[in-house]
Formats: sequence, structure tokens, C-alpha cells
Amino acid sequence: MTTALTGVNPLLDPADRRVPVIPGPCGLVVFGVTGDLARRKLLPALYDLSNRGLLPAGFAITGFARREQTTEDFIRQTHSAVASAARTPFRQRVWEQLAGQMRYVAGDVADPAAYGRLKEAVEQADTTQGTGGNRAFYLSLPPASFPLVCHHLAASGLATPSDPAAAAAPVTAPGGPWRRVIVEKPFGRDLASAKALDATLAQAFPPEAVFRIDHYLGKETVRNIVVCRFANQIFEPLWNSTYIDHVQITQAEDLGVGARAGYYNGIGATRDVLQNHLLQLLALVAMERPASFTAADLRLEKERVLAAVELDGPVEQATARGQYTAGWQGNLKVRGYLEEDGIPADSATDTFGALKLAVKTPRWEGTPFYLRTGKRLGRRVTEIALVARRPATGCPPGLDTPYQGANAIVFRIQPDEGMTLRIGAKVPETTMEVRDVTMDFAFGHAFTEALPDAYERLLLDVLLGNDPLFPQANEVYQAWRVIDQVESYWAASGQPPEPYPAGTWGPAGATALMARDKRVWRRP
Ligand code: NAP
Repeated sequence: MTTALTGVNPLLDPADRRVPVIPGPCGLVVFGVTGDLARRKLLPALYDLSNRGLLPAGFAITGFARREQTTEDFIRQTHSAVASAARTPFRQRVWEQLAGQMRYVAGDVADPAAYGRLKEAVEQADTTQGTGGNRAFYLSLPPASFPLVCHHLAASGLATPSDPAAAAAPVTAPGGPWRRVIVEKPFGRDLASAKALDATLAQAFPPEAVFRIDHYLGKETVRNIVVCRFANQIFEPLWNSTYIDHVQITQAEDLGVGARAGYYNGIGATRDVLQNHLLQLLALVAMERPASFTAADLRLEKERVLAAVELDGPVEQATARGQYTAGWQGNLKVRGYLEEDGIPADSATDTFGALKLAVKTPRWEGTPFYLRTGKRLGRRVTEIALVARRPATGCPPGLDTPYQGANAIVFRIQPDEGMTLRIGAKVPETTMEVRDVTMDFAFGHAFTEALPDAYERLLLDVLLGNDPLFPQANEVYQAWRVIDQVESYWAASGQPPEPYPAGTWGPAGATALMARDKRVWRRP
């Protein structure tokens, strides 16, 4: 099977497409390598990249975590992660090569001596694996430990390239070895802590060497939004408040908090998902056409549009939050959030958040954007729906049943990746009856190329030094500006989140938020 995953980014202009398909020699240090993200996503993605021939021959993976284990244990753990989550077929030869590139260092991120051991292992890998001394550090750790790790990376010399000018240089650039750091979301827990985190990162890495991960931006379906908008003439005339009544962006999970209680409690749905994934999706839908598809121009437009986002109305009218209670997930009885392991019985953490936002640009004046996210909702789905206005004059008289629907352009981000156009069509064998129908494009049917996992794409981009869609500091700050206002209102209100039974579509307050505008949430 052919694959669309190359080192070439389709959003870059032709001159920039000349980046090499395979990164140059380098090493990847994964902090938190025994964690959920590393096991489910990072290690399988590294295997898939290797299997597709997209990792350099001179490559090393150094895993770091607290638990005491040997490199052999780490290799075994990676083997089982790859067996359960890799997307490409297992090939013994590829696996053996990858296993030969791995080593493990046990230590606590708070222990300065651990960085000495890590440095020794990384330098040994530089020599034996031929990494050219190029290093990327992936911080797959609890966010509270990021500042400490940055401090120690700088103090130990691990983050210091022999040539600081080469810190974020693309692989093709001449000069000494580079250093890059990959920071998982959420980036801070509010505007002040995001700025403080940037200040700490700056002690060890120049701004161009900081890659903030928002894995949604690695999804082909998300990257397709920009291509679809600006490569197709038919959409642009409709893409404004004259034709679009409102936009709904939904990220729904059917699962509960699971084993992530320690991380999730106190953060909640709004900070965990809405602040990053959903506001980034909004930016891609609402931004103006960039001057070019280079990283700098794309970022500029995303940043501009995020700066124009405001809550649409008083906080109490423009927001809703909830917390799931016991209910049903299909035919399975499930616990409420407060009964989950590790969750305090009086937790006020939101597991559902919804916002009504205004985008204060001429294009979107009068078109609200409704964003919602939640755990234990009806089903797992992420989609963006641009819902069209109804004709000002209504349908011509003479229809058997007036058309009740509204046209919509829907981007299906996951699952069943693709696009849907909803229109009204005449029902056969009636005189003039109109019914909603859909025109569908599914990636799976339209292309023989595989949809790579977002982490494959993002890891490759980091190693290549491509950063077209990694959120920049100002985008993150603009998103926190909006969310801080909401979170501080909720904190000051002293009210707990509204309960909603697991398996439903959120609290009554979210329905009321739409009903006030005589609209309803879509049932995706
Ligand atoms: P996790 O399952 O709790 O794993 C945390 C990892 O960090 C483990 O490897 C743990 O090592 C290590 N660790 C914790 N404290 C440490 C310390 N003091 N010293 C050294 N190592 C330490 O967390 P996760 O779900 O993988 O998440 C990691 C990061 O990714 C977080 O920032 C999270 O927000 C982000 N993220 C995760 C997901 C996801 O799907 N899991 C999605 C998006 C973003 P031990 O096992 O040895 O304790």
C-alpha cells in the first residue's frame, strides 16, 4: 500500500517542499516513557515511522521514567506497545533495528544525579548510533514537572548544543547539532502559568526549538480543513456570516476519566480540550486566507483570528459546564465522576464544557461559534459543522412539507474521517416533499493512502524541524485569555458543575445555552 506520509508537508509552498523526506541523524529522549501516552501513541508511532522507512539510520531512543527497570525490560514493554497499537504490520527486521536503538534510564525528574546518568546514556547513544549529536526531548510527563525538567536540562548541559545558533536549525542547515523540546498539552493551566512555562523553557531552549504539541493539528482531517477551504473555489463565497448561521464544534468522548484521575481532576474538560484542540479548530475554520501556506503566514492568520475571539454575551449566558453522574454506556452501567478511583467526593472539576463565542472579524460578525466537549457523552465523535442560514424568503409555496432542515458543511475529524454536505432533496414519488440527505466524502473510500496517526506526523515534523501547525506562544496566550475569564467566573461562583447522566449529551445548561438562541446542538 502506498502512503501519504512523507517528510513533505502539503501545506508548505513549493520552495519549502524540498525538505528531505527522512530526517537527518538524531536522537529522541522520551521523558515519561512508561506512561499511557508513550505506550499507546509515541512508541507505536516510532515503530510505524521506522517501518515506513522514515527514520534515519543514525537514530536513538532514550526512555526515561521513575520506575526501576533495565533496557531489556523497556524493549519488552515497547514490543508489547507496538504489538497492540502499531498501525503497520509487524516486521521482525524493522523491530530488531529499532530495539537496537533503544536504551532506558531510571530516575526521578527532581533528582539532579538522574540527569548525569541520562547525559551519559545519551552521549553513548550519540557515539554508538551515530546521531550526530542532534537531540529532541519529549516531555511526556505530568505538566507540573515541566519547569523542573527544563531547569535540569539546562543545568546538566543536556540541552546545550555545541553551537547554540543551530538549536532549531532544519536538518538541512549547516552548523552544529540541534536541540528541540516537545511539550505536551495543556500548555499551562492559565495565561500566567503558560507565560511562566515559556520563561522556564527559554532558560534551556530558544523559542524556535520549542514544539508545543496539539495532536489534533497532526490529524490529516484537521490539516484538510485548510486545504479544503482554500483549494476549492466553491466554499469561499459561502464562508461568512451572510450564508453561515452558526458554527458548532464538538469533541465528545464516550469514555470516563479512567486511569487519568490524578492528572484530570482540577484541570477539567475546558482546560484539557477546549482551550487547545477546539480553539485551534476554530482558528482553522475562521481564519482569513494566509498570504502563503508557509508556517509563518499560517501562524499569523491563526493568531490574528484567535485575538478576535470573545465570549458572546455575559459569562453566565455564554457558558455551560457539567460533571457526569452514573449512567449507561451502551448496555454497560458506569460510575459517576465522583465515584471514579482517585477522584475526591467533593470535586468541582468539569467533565463537560460548552462556550458560545463571537469572532470579531468582518467575515463572522453575527455568526456565533458554539464549542462543546465532554466525557461520557453519547458517542465518541469530533466534528465541525457550519450550519447555513435558511433562505430569507422561505421556501416557495407548494411544497408538501416545508423543508425543516438547514444546509450544513460538516468536517468529520474522527471517527469515519471525511466531510458531509447536508442538503434538502425531493423525495421520490411525492409531489414536492423535501427531506434531508447527505453527500459524503470519506477518506477511507476516496484514497488508497493510509491515514497516518497524528503522532507519526508530529514526531516526524519535529525531527525534520518543520513546524507549520505547532501552536506558537501567542496562540496559546490568546486561547488562555478566553478560557481564564470563564474559569475564574466558575471558580468565583462557588457552584458545582451541573450533573448529567453518563451516556447523554451533557447538562441541561448546554441545551438552554442553545435554546436561548432558538438553536439546537447537532446529534452527530
Ligand atoms: P501517565 O500515564 O501518568 O505517565 C506519566 C509518566 O511520567 C510515567 O512514565 C511516569 O513514570 C513519569 N513520571 C511521573 N512522575 C515522574 C517523576 N517524578 N520522575 C520521572 N518520571 C515521572 O501520563 P500520560 O497520560 O502518559 O501523560 C503524559 C503527558 O502527556 C501529560 O502531560 C499529559 O497531559 C499529556 N497527554 C496525554 C495524553 C494521553 O492520551 N495519555 C493525551 C494528550 C496529552 P513512572 O511510570 O515510572 O511513574
